[in-house]
Amino acid sequence: MTYNKYGPYLKETFGSAVYKITVDAGFTCPNRDGSKGVGGCTYCNNEKFFQDNGKDILSVKEQVLKKISYRKRKKLEKYIVYFQTYSNTYGSTDYLKSLYESVLDIKNVIGIAIGTRVDCIDDEKLKLLKEISNSHYVCLEYGLESISNETLSRINRGHDIDCFVETVKKTHEYGIDICAHLMFGFPWESQKIAKESALFLNQLPIKFVKIHQLQIVKNSIMGNDYKKSAFQLLGKNDYLNYLLDFLTALNPNTVVQRVAGDCPAEILIAAGFSESSINIAFELDQKMKELELLQGISFKEAQ
Ligand code: SF4
Repeated sequence: MTYNKYGPYLKETFGSAVYKITVDAGFTCPNRDGSKGVGGCTYCNNEKFFQDNGKDILSVKEQVLKKISYRKRKKLEKYIVYFQTYSNTYGSTDYLKSLYESVLDIKNVIGIAIGTRVDCIDDEKLKLLKEISNSHYVCLEYGLESISNETLSRINRGHDIDCFVETVKKTHEYGIDICAHLMFGFPWESQKIAKESALFLNQLPIKFVKIHQLQIVKNSIMGNDYKKSAFQLLGKNDYLNYLLDFLTALNPNTVVQRVAGDCPAEILIAAGFSESSINIAFELDQKMKELELLQGISFKEAQ
């Protein structure tokens, strides 16, 4: 295997195919509601994550049951419920407990993955997740997006690298798996950030990564800027080169959950390439084979 892929990892760890069921729990985000900053991250338009485009809002449990009912191989699968939309720890601990527990008794649900911000978690919430992890799988997914404080400031992330590092270390002390999200293609960054990002993550107790390319979407600050003055986005070959630099320097034990993102056409303003994330993953694999590259090849050399 050219890099450490999530599907095989899940199969090996849980003994069968595991499918992630994405839900919208109706949270907001402290970077959008005014408590952290104004207007949110500049690239963000969370409409792309709304269930059914905002229609037919179901409880989280109902969403999971509905999505499982559509699965053709449901007798053979296990499920991780993925709380994706906005910041899914942005509520009282009592509320989070009832929310997370509402899906755990569903047949074949083995655990939860929770997408959130590093400034949106505390010891009380981590204790709750630790308790849940005694009986179910738990993973916290933290948005980092860039290892550059300059970029975090320019994209209005509302937290810096130190905050990310501190939260990752604290989460690890509670024994909870961590996934870091990264984005490549900010026009003021260069390809060297790809390898630097891997070296940065290698120093932290991070088990999973998700990578995606910058895309320009409607109703975002960056989208408005782009319409006034378009800037260069990473083309497919450049993006693949970023991925190669990143993966060859990444600790081979880190599991890669995603190597590119997809964006619904109705909210997309601009993208550097039109290939789907599945096609990018395929081309990446081909390229790594052709070049005889493996995840962590330079990580190992540096040891
Ligand atoms: S990208 Fe995430 S953290 Fe940033 S504004 Fe959007 S929902 Fe909030």
